[in-house]
Amino acid sequence: MVRFWGVRGSIPSPGPKTARYGGNTPCVEIRCGDELIIFDLGTGIRELGASYGPSLTASIFVSHYHYDHLQGLPFFTPMFHPKSRVVFYGPSRAGRTVKDVIVAQMQQPFFPVTAEMVFRADVDYRAVAEGDRIVLGDAVVTALEVKHPGGNLAYRVHYRGKSVVYATDAEHGDRDGQLIEFAKGADLLIFDAMYSEDEYNGVAGPPKIGWGHSTWEQSIKVANGAGVGKLCLFHHDPTRDDDALDALLGHVRKERKEAMAAAEGQIIKV
Ligand SMILES: [Zn+2]
Ligand SMILES: [Zn+2]
Repeated sequence: MVRFWGVRGSIPSPGPKTARYGGNTPCVEIRCGDELIIFDLGTGIRELGASYGPSLTASIFVSHYHYDHLQGLPFFTPMFHPKSRVVFYGPSRAGRTVKDVIVAQMQQPFFPVTAEMVFRADVDYRAVAEGDRIVLGDAVVTALEVKHPGGNLAYRVHYRGKSVVYATDAEHGDRDGQLIEFAKGADLLIFDAMYSEDEYNGVAGPPKIGWGHSTWEQSIKVANGAGVGKLCLFHHDPTRDDDALDALLGHVRKERKEAMAAAEGQIIKV
């Protein structure tokens, strides 16, 4: 079971024009039996935490440390409860471990209280790198480096013959072959389709080459190349309102009828 808590890229974009798809930044829940796996700590994780009550046990995989993938953590209330057990998995970047980054984001002058002051959960931090294989009950999580400024990990969860790939913040280019190989035969591909090719190339607005994001046209190529069962567009541009997202999805559905655009609260049974 996959549930989307935050689907928006770069910055939260609340308001009536984005109410259907939602304005929270990346957070995806995957349930594999008793294992609760969470991808990213975007603002969507606040509501995820609220839905589980005061405490939970979870494995949280952080793709990378840009604000939109971290910012929800201080408001993830299970962290305040001593019965919670949370393991953070994430890459080491620029000499900093996942623990360094998570602790550092809750410090003056960025935040009023430190993690040490307020978090009471039993927490562990583990490094992940491309090629690692993390076993969580009957689920296995693997990781791949994708093209993004500062680096980013895509993850794949395998569970009882099914698999889901979470590939956000993945610009197309020199890692396309590896990503297609990594996503081969997945049941669900969650993919960064932030831009159109025209937006990306500067035909509409300033060019966005090197900004670390892909396009809906590329999402079709990756999904077809990897032969995935279902394509899910993700990391929606904050300027894209609900109607514009419907239109974007319409283009993708001409090629892949099953495609969907992730919406907050949506649940997919894989
Ligand atoms: Zn992002
Ligand atoms: Zn990013």
